[in-house]
Amino acid sequence: MILIPEKKSKPVKKFFDGFNEVILKMIDLIMLAAPYGVFALLAALVVESPSVDLFKALIWYAFTVILGLLIMIAFYNLLVWVITKKNPSFFLKGISPAQLLAFSTSSSAATLPVTMERVTEHLGVDEEVSSFVLPIGATINMDGTSLYQAVAAVFIAQAFGMDLSLGVQLGIIVTATLASIGSAAVPGAGMVMLVIVLAQAGIPEAGLALIFAIDRPLDMCRTAVNVTGDASVSMIVAKSLGRLHDPKVKDWDDNYKSN
Ligand code: ASP
Repeated sequence: MILIPEKKSKPVKKFFDGFNEVILKMIDLIMLAAPYGVFALLAALVVESPSVDLFKALIWYAFTVILGLLIMIAFYNLLVWVITKKNPSFFLKGISPAQLLAFSTSSSAATLPVTMERVTEHLGVDEEVSSFVLPIGATINMDGTSLYQAVAAVFIAQAFGMDLSLGVQLGIIVTATLASIGSAAVPGAGMVMLVIVLAQAGIPEAGLALIFAIDRPLDMCRTAVNVTGDASVSMIVAKSLGRLHDPKVKDWDDNYKSN
């Protein structure tokens, strides 16, 4: 598209922009209607469930996802430490406002402006690197989401008493990675894409009802991890290109002064 005149490529760009908006709105509508459908599905499950085991299992499931996410954050810190020689407290202090915003909005896209500001000004990544790596990262780098999808798929399979062969488990890893790349950076998108992982592994999609009730808190946690991953990668890329500087925090009126 960049090889043809902008006037010609503009309609194509507009088409894809519009298509993207339509998909996001569809997810919005699905998520609005979902609680009622899930309530009905869950009601049937609760009434038919012979014991409280299901709820205990849900707590274990949430615990497993959160433990995995914590391990992921520790791994990012280690990577940043080893490659860029910046210690974990510097990294976490710099990125924590973005993590908190990600946690409260459950959206990497909504957090993007704050992630950009923190990474550029507080972690010292050159704007040339952050303005390329972070928008791409917010859209396709969702490691927290892929971890969640894999754990959720295994949990649902176990809840239905299915045995997963090694091949199916490997398939779950591959599709969870691809589905997380395809997930939009908005609340609940990871769960919508989980359908693909379940279908590929032959796990009943009705199992989604099992995990819907606790999806929001887990979405908050995985979004914080997604944003942390984007920040770590931009630091590592900046380091490898020699574009990692000392942080230079701007004052709110810096632009005014320089004008
Ligand atoms: N809410 C996540 C994000 O924006 C995506 C998801 O896992 O649902 O990064």
